[in-house]
Order: sequence, then structure tokens, then C-alpha cells
Amino acid sequence: MHQVDESNADEVFGKYGAVDELIGGILEYPFSCALLGIGTFEQAELAFANEYPQRHFTYEEVIARLKEQFDPIACDRCERCVCPYGHEIHTTFRQYNYYHLGKEFWAINKLKMDAEQNYQHCRSCTEQSCRKECGRGLHIPEQIERVHRLLEAYGD
Ligand code: SF4
Ligand code: SF4
Repeated sequence: MHQVDESNADEVFGKYGAVDELIGGILEYPFSCALLGIGTFEQAELAFANEYPQRHFTYEEVIARLKEQFDPIACDRCERCVCPYGHEIHTTFRQYNYYHLGKEFWAINKLKMDAEQNYQHCRSCTEQSCRKECGRGLHIPEQIERVHRLLEAYGD
């Protein structure tokens, strides 16, 4: 049985699709329990009021859904890209997407830890070895530049 509190899920996820199918997508993940925002008895009662069928979204479906709202970096976190400077490319791309998914402050602070130095290294990196194994065909330094522009626009 899958029971979920949807009292504020609509506000958070509603723009990405119907709440019941998005919750179904979350429940399709291989964990045994998902408790979303249950802090009071009222919320708990709401959480146990409905059941949601599991829903599998392909990677392409997720990216297409996100593209309706912003231009995500379509990194699937395979971690095949290796940077000789040790930059965690997939982490930076994840934070960039999180920024657009309502985690602005948190994502920006994470990005500030490495993205700017990553950008500076990319500017003088002629080998671009990171690009050789990217199954998604991402032009990684160009994406890092997008992250740099986001940080610039955000300011201090
Ligand atoms: S292009 Fe940038 S991310 Fe890629 S290997 Fe060079 S410095 Fe690292
Ligand atoms: S290889 Fe491409 S898809 Fe995989 S983690 Fe690196 S950037 Fe993302």
C-alpha cells in the first residue's frame, strides 16, 4: 500500500505534471517507505487517505518534462567523465538542475564550492578528456560555462 500526503505536493510538483503520476514516479523508486511532509496528525490523516499506483518514467520522459519549465543539463550521472583536475562534473550539473527545482540557495552554495574553479580550468583545457566518454554527448565545458553564468547572475 502506498500512502502519501499531497497537501502541498501540488504547489511543489504541480507544474511538472499531475501530482498523482509524479508521486507514482517517486514510489517506483526501490525504497520501502516514502514520507513526504508528515508533521501533524492532520497531515498524517491526509497521507493515509489515498493510494497511488507506481509509475515508471524513462530518463527521456523526465528530461522532456523538465524542459517544459527550464533548460536542464541532461546528465544522467554515469560518472564516466573524468577531469584531470578532479572536478566532480556530475555533482555540478545536478546542483544546476536543483537550482531550477526550488533549491536555489542550497544549490548555489554547493556550486560556489567548485564550479568557478572548474570553469577557469575548462577555459584553458585543450584536451577536454571529460568529453570522450560522455554517453549523453554533452559538451561539458560549455555546460560548465552555463553554470558559471548562473553564478554570475546570482551574485554574492
Ligand atoms: S574541459 Fe573542463 S571538466 Fe573537462 S577535463 Fe578539461 S578542465 Fe576538466
Ligand atoms: S559522462 Fe556525461 S552523462 Fe555521465 S556523468 Fe559525465 S556529464 Fe554526466
